[in-house]
Amino acid sequence: KQHSQQPEGKSNIHVYVRVRPLSNEEIAQGEKFSVQLSRDEQSIKVLDRGYSSSSIAFQFDGCIGPTVGQEEMMQKLRLQKLLNKVLEGYSSTVMAYGQTGSGKTFTMSGRQEFLQASNNLKSPTDGLIARAVTYLFGATKSQSTENNPKSFTIKASYFEVYNEQVNDLLRLNCAPREVKWSPNEGFYVADLLLVECEMVDDVFSVLDEGAKNRKMGSHNLNKDSSRSHCVMTLHMDSHWKLDDGPTIIRHGRMIFVDLAGSERLKKTKSSGDMLKETGNINRSLFTLGKVISALAEGKRKDVIPYRESTLTKLLMESLGGSSLALMIACISPALSAIDETMSTLHYASCTK
Ligand code: ADP
Ligand code: MG
Repeated sequence: KQHSQQPEGKSNIHVYVRVRPLSNEEIAQGEKFSVQLSRDEQSIKVLDRGYSSSSIAFQFDGCIGPTVGQEEMMQKLRLQKLLNKVLEGYSSTVMAYGQTGSGKTFTMSGRQEFLQASNNLKSPTDGLIARAVTYLFGATKSQSTENNPKSFTIKASYFEVYNEQVNDLLRLNCAPREVKWSPNEGFYVADLLLVECEMVDDVFSVLDEGAKNRKMGSHNLNKDSSRSHCVMTLHMDSHWKLDDGPTIIRHGRMIFVDLAGSERLKKTKSSGDMLKETGNINRSLFTLGKVISALAEGKRKDVIPYRESTLTKLLMESLGGSSLALMIACISPALSAIDETMSTLHYASCTK
């Protein structure tokens, strides 16, 4: 197997903010908006106590407002670029960050209540994963042309990182999986179930199964699911048959991460403090911030603290180098959530 490599250099991580709408309950309670997007959608202002006179603006690659639906969001994120890289044999990652209730799962998977519903239900609230998977499968069909003979083997895995341990979400009642290292693959989860997927529906079944097991697991073991990171990976091996030569296999990967609720990170006033904070409840979330900001500063691979947490170990080959990644910082617009919103914007803006 061959991982496509390109020279290392500037960070290939783009950071977007998504503001969810106020819920009906919030509106009924007279909740106010605490944020305002700039006209060019490049920055977002937090209106301190609702007065714009003392507001702070944060810059991002893009800001997605509360009226933007799922399909329009895909375009604003320019997700096709990431997906096309996967088809070429690279790794791409999309991560949703934010406090519990800010819209991470809505953004990645769509509406919670539809998750258990029958697969294949095309709904306008379908999340980013369903849309991305549909695009990828469509592209594998249209890419196998006469002069570009290529076939794909697609497999899916789904695990969670909880308390720095890895649980396979596709296998119920098994012990936590071990994280191992190999010279070829870097860090990987040993004995993780990989499900071969021939069509989009197979991936939806995997997602349903994972969501069900996650729910059941957290119920039985009395776990708080907002503390776990959910990682769904689509492994796309492409087989390139050259005229006389051997078949080349390229290992492309699309990784979707629904991160733990960021309220688990201790509240700090400034981004500097946040990156110095020790003894965090969620080491993976904390280290991810450090890794991404080190990448944004253009640090060398050997000084980036990938090895300090389980999640960042597993994302090591997919963050940095020629891989593309997208961080979507989800926020609530509610004035009552302003502290968490500020904390999320600080975290997200120091990953730029
Ligand atoms: P999280 O996963 O961050 O805890 P959820 O995705 O579960 O948050 O979102 C909390 C609630 O807000 C859910 O009821 C969800 O359907 C709703 N919601 C979140 N984002 C949006 C959005 N962009 N548009 C409409 N409803 C949303
Ligand atoms: Mg969620």
